[in-house]
Formats: sequence, structure tokens, C-alpha cells
Amino acid sequence: MSESSPQPSFYNTEDRRQVPLIPREDGRIGLYTCGPTVYHHAHIGNFRTFLFEDLLRRALRFLGFDVHQVMNITDVDDKIIRAAGEAGVSLDEYTEPYIDSFFRDLDVLHIERAELYPRATEHVAEMIELIETLVEKGVAYLSDGSVFFRIAEDADYGRLSKLDLTQVQQGARVAADEYGKEDVRDFVLWKGAKPGEPSWDSPWGVGRPGWHLECSAMSMKYLGPEFDIHTGGVDNIFPHHENEIAQSETATGRQFVRMWMHSEHLQVDGDKMSKSLGNQYTLADLLERGLEPRALRYFFLTTHYRKKLNFTLAGVEDAAAGLKRIDEMRFRLEHAEEAGGLESTLTTAVTEARERFAAGLADDLNTSEALAALFGLVKAVNIAIETSRLAMGDRATVLGLIAEMDTVFGVLDPADWRTEGEAGGLDDAEIDRLVAERQQARADRDFARSDQIRDQLAEAGVVIEDTPSGPRWKRT
Ligand code: AMP
Ligand code: ZN
Repeated sequence: MSESSPQPSFYNTEDRRQVPLIPREDGRIGLYTCGPTVYHHAHIGNFRTFLFEDLLRRALRFLGFDVHQVMNITDVDDKIIRAAGEAGVSLDEYTEPYIDSFFRDLDVLHIERAELYPRATEHVAEMIELIETLVEKGVAYLSDGSVFFRIAEDADYGRLSKLDLTQVQQGARVAADEYGKEDVRDFVLWKGAKPGEPSWDSPWGVGRPGWHLECSAMSMKYLGPEFDIHTGGVDNIFPHHENEIAQSETATGRQFVRMWMHSEHLQVDGDKMSKSLGNQYTLADLLERGLEPRALRYFFLTTHYRKKLNFTLAGVEDAAAGLKRIDEMRFRLEHAEEAGGLESTLTTAVTEARERFAAGLADDLNTSEALAALFGLVKAVNIAIETSRLAMGDRATVLGLIAEMDTVFGVLDPADWRTEGEAGGLDDAEIDRLVAERQQARADRDFARSDQIRDQLAEAGVVIEDTPSGPRWKRT
């Protein structure tokens, strides 16, 4: 985008309203996105959040910003320690297959890689340093081999989640390994290890860091003590992000994050996705059922990130139908004749579509508006072709804008989604269309075009046989 890109404004969870994004450094955004806990394969709910973050980074770039994204990998927590112990393997051995599948799934969904994926187990030293600062400041205390954050010392606590913390009862049930807390609301920074558990040395004895701490330590290490945007799913708001603010701001005395953005949850058939309901799908489960990753990506991106999204197979089919409309327009446009001497009817449509698209994204990632801009263009192109008003240069202009839009959606070009093994990149539907077009060309006695299509198909490893009942094709 040019200098005339609209000023983005996003819904800041902390303000509970949409506010302009004012980067700390002109044109540059530091973005921290809470990553997966690699205790099992990520489920599609997690991917809804990761896709929202992918959309955010792509949209920011389209709007003219350089984005530096850091996503942590939580490779140590209570569940991982327990599961690795039961399996009799080290933490690394236990988490490795889940880290691999996480990256594989990102690729399947064409989610762009962040600039950095730091792991918790590789940043324990930074976390210990942060705890030391908090202990020095008198807001953290040692009890029973663990260190806790004393929230009574933090007048600002609750600022993000706006929860009434007086409602949290003293004497409420406390996890067995957190008995040492002075106040039930305090949270753990360092957990003393039980014998035989994987652990790290610290000034407070052997143990492991609490989960909230890793995101404070790693975000500030790589993005600085103050940065632009921090995201996650809505379940991260409390206590995770609230605690991150408490730890970070108490340690540095500075505003930790300017903009907090949270995506709503994915539900399945109207219910919360959960193991007990048996409706918790991984990406691999869905691919096994024959769902197309391209349609899935589109399905996730078409609902605004702050609305609950209900996952249904019918929803994914609708998404596939939307993509088909775009693909059909592209196919017609690629094969239509441009007429010389015509004044373009599409130049204005392209300019308006680009502006509407950018304005939609800048308005709290309004994907419906951005897609309405695209479908308006699809309609204008179809009309131009049907009325033989495609002018010289129109094809390149329209395809150029769609390619630009696709730097944000990452889903609009079928060629990017072809798997190896599909003939020269052509799927069955495209071959059918080319064969039909060749028939039409022959009927029109346009033999140059019919030969060209035959050659194109041959190159893709498809041969056409002309039979008395019409052409038939097969892959060689
Ligand atoms: P986890 O692996 O549990 O740490 O979660 C990774 C990310 O997925 C976090 O940002 C969560 O907020 C998010 N998340 C978890 N469940 C869902 C869900 N059902 N829908 C959308 N995002 C989710
Ligand atoms: Zn986090």
C-alpha cells in the first residue's frame, strides 16, 4: 500500500473500544502472540486464534507497517511434566512430535511464519532474572519452595480483565502445590519441584517457572519492555494476560503493551469444543474427513475475529462455494479476449475495490467489508466479460489487485494450493473447463486456440481423446 493507506484502529480489550493504532516506532509493529502449549496436537480452536494473528500481521503489512512477530512455544508446564513422566521420556522427547505437527499445520493452512518462536525451556534464565527483580521490589515472596506474586501490592491489578477481584473469596480451594500463598488471588512465579521432576536451579531452590512468566520474559526480551500489540484467544485475558501486565509493569515501571487484541472462541456444532464432548478436532482429523485446507482457511477468515464462530461442515462447504465464485471469475478473465480501442469500464472499479478493501481491514479487521470489496469486483469483471467490454490491460489490472488482496487473505489463488501429484498443477475441474473450452473453440473454428489448449493439457500430462460421444480425457 502507498502512503495513502488508512490509519488502522482496532478494538483494544483494555479500553473496551476501538482505538487508533499508534506504533511506538513509525511504521514498525512489535507483535507478541501467545503460542501453543505443546502437550498434544493443536486443535482447530487454537488455529482460529493463530489464523486471526496471521490475518493481523498480513493486514498490517498491507497497510504499510513492518511487522516483527514473536510467538512463544510453551514446552514446559504441569501437564507436560506429568505426561512426559508417565511416558518415561524427557520433556524434549515428549514435546518434539507436537512441535513438529504445529509447524506442519501452520504450513497446511498457509499461516505465515512469525519472525521468532522462542521456547520456554530455553529462557528460564530470563525468567529467573525477572523474578529476582520482583522479589527485590517486595512484590514477590518465597513460601514453601515456591515464589508467588503478591497482587495486593499492585493497585492496578485487574485493569485488563475488569474483574471484581474482591469476589474471589479468601479460603477458596487452592491447588495442592500452591498452599503456600498468602492470599488466594496471588499467582505462582516459580514452582518448587517434587523429587524426580524435570527442574532448574534457582536462588529459591530447584523448580520450574510458572506459565504466565514466560510470556513476560520472552516478549520483553525480543520486543522490548514496551511494545505495540499483544494477542491471544479470549481465554487468555484472565488470568494469563492480567498476570503478564502485573509482572512486567511492576518490574519495569513502564506500560507493557499498547494494544491488547483477543479473538473469540471456536465452537463446534454450537457447543464448546472439549475433549469430554468428543468434538475436539485437530487439523489432521479434518483433512482425514476430506476437508480442503483452502476452504478451511477461508471459512475461518470470513467471520470477524471478535465473533464466536461455530464450526460446521456446512459452513466449510459454503466457504468452498465462495471460493469457487472467485476461481470461476479468474478462469474466465484469464481466457477472455481483451478488445482493442475500448475504454476500460474496470479501472474505477479496481480503484474503488482497493480503497474499500484497505478501509475494511483498517476498521478492526473487518473482513466482511474487505470481502465485499472483492466480490463487488468479481461482479464488475463478470459483467465486463459478458458484455464484451474487457479492454486492453484490464486482465493485468484486475489480477494485480487480486494478488495484492491475496497477500492478506492467502487463499485466493488456487495455484498456491495445488498438491504435488495433481496434473501439472491442474485439478479435475480445471481440466474439464479447458476441455469444454477447446470444444467451443473447435466449434467456432478457432483452431489456434483449440491447439493451444491441447498443448497446455499435454504439458500438464493430460491427453484428450475425441470420441463420437465427445472428448474424453485422461492423465498420463
Ligand atoms: P494453548 O495451546 O492452550 O496455550 O492455546 C493456544 C492459543 O489458542 C491461545 O491463544 C488460546 O487462547 C487459543 N484457544 C484455545 N482454545 C480456543 C478456541 N476454542 N477457539 C479459539 N482460540 C482458542
Ligand atoms: Zn502467553
